[in-house]
Amino acid sequence: MPDKLYTQTFSTDTHIFSEGEKGIIAYVIESGLVEIYTIKKGKHVVLGILTPGQLFGEMALIDDEPRTATAIAIKDTVLTIISRKQLIERLKNTEPMLRMLMRVIISRYRTSIRHARKAGMISQLNTPLPDDTMSEETQTLAIGKFRQENELREALLNKDLLVHYQPLLNMETGKWAGFEALTRWNHPTKGPISPIEFISLAEETTLIIPIGMYVLRQAIEDMIILQAERNKILPDAPPLFIAVNVSSRQIEETDFIDNIASIVKENGFPPASLKLEITESMTADYQLVVDWASRCRALGFSIAIDDFGTGYSSMEHLLELEVDTLKIDQTFIKKMQQNPKARKLVVGMVRLSKALGYSTVAEGLETEVDFNTLQGMSVEYGQGFHIAKPQSAEKIIEQLKNGA
Ligand code: C2E
Ligand code: CA
Ligand code: CA
Repeated sequence: MPDKLYTQTFSTDTHIFSEGEKGIIAYVIESGLVEIYTIKKGKHVVLGILTPGQLFGEMALIDDEPRTATAIAIKDTVLTIISRKQLIERLKNTEPMLRMLMRVIISRYRTSIRHARKAGMISQLNTPLPDDTMSEETQTLAIGKFRQENELREALLNKDLLVHYQPLLNMETGKWAGFEALTRWNHPTKGPISPIEFISLAEETTLIIPIGMYVLRQAIEDMIILQAERNKILPDAPPLFIAVNVSSRQIEETDFIDNIASIVKENGFPPASLKLEITESMTADYQLVVDWASRCRALGFSIAIDDFGTGYSSMEHLLELEVDTLKIDQTFIKKMQQNPKARKLVVGMVRLSKALGYSTVAEGLETEVDFNTLQGMSVEYGQGFHIAKPQSAEKIIEQLKNGA
């Protein structure tokens, strides 16, 4: 089998790395067997035999020191690669205290190895960590994350990430007003993975940057086609809009706005038809979000507050942040038929949104009853399974042709 981008295959008796080499990658054994050894006084000393699921070579990722032992495949072996860049990204997100401790411990460990080597007793110190130092669950989880991150990178490169579109209905005219772009990942073996899972994985690393740009580009290209189809059927209807989700990590990226602007320009897409959705609970610095939103609006894009009511719900946020749309979170819509308080909150949020001059979207509209209730409250847009599920651009086109 040829090597995939993030796995490497070693046949029996081939070296994975050698003592003294500089290391920039660590490995996780997917299948096969690996021996870690050193040469002591001309003798081959085995330090450990590693089996599938085990991680090795990780110390060289954290410091710049050379490998302290040699690794060789003693069976045909498949390894997943973890690069220094990946690990550094993760470390950046950890507590500075933990980061410092890790470096200190590793540096002390290296020093001990050097002293032990001088004293001729390297073997014990260089032995791979025994399995019971970390619970199997933690280890599987941590390694699983790196593995999934690699798979996600590969999916992005191979264009295996799909963008689906969920229509937003104009509650007054009964016509589709626009769409929300929602990313889909159909994993080759695990099947569809929820964006809640893979987007948060992408947010933990810088992967969200290229994924976000990929989604944006795809959405804009598709929207040009959808708009052309719509024009054939309803030439006088207002232009369709596309809403794209934005993560804190993207907002923190200095050239993000320029990149959005150039994609929009390249495609001749009307800026007013692009809506950027941010959530109330963004981790980015509040002032940064405020400035970012105002720059976006100056370029003609609109801004929506997503999942409204579930974040900090601080009205202070609304005071400074200039937006165009409030999207009432699905939790309230789902509960409003049974829970009078939820219903009152929806009424209140719709009024608040109107008073501020924003358009309002009710999310998670699942039934005819919900639809009628929200129409009675004069909510402008509805989004939910009752209207339509997120689906491919091809399926959306079919429905636009039928006058949706
Ligand atoms: P979201 O932005 O709040 O998107 C709405 C989610 O609600 C979507 O879930 C949609 O499929 C689901 N939904 C819509 N109508 C209904 C309904 O009537 N009932 C129920 N139960 N659910 C409904 P999905 O596609 O699983 O996405 C989950 C979240 O993942 C999104 O929540 C968004 O935060 C994030 N996400 C998805 N794609 C992207 C992306 O390209 N970039 C970023 N940054 N986040 C994304
Ligand atoms: Ca959203
Ligand atoms: Ca939402």
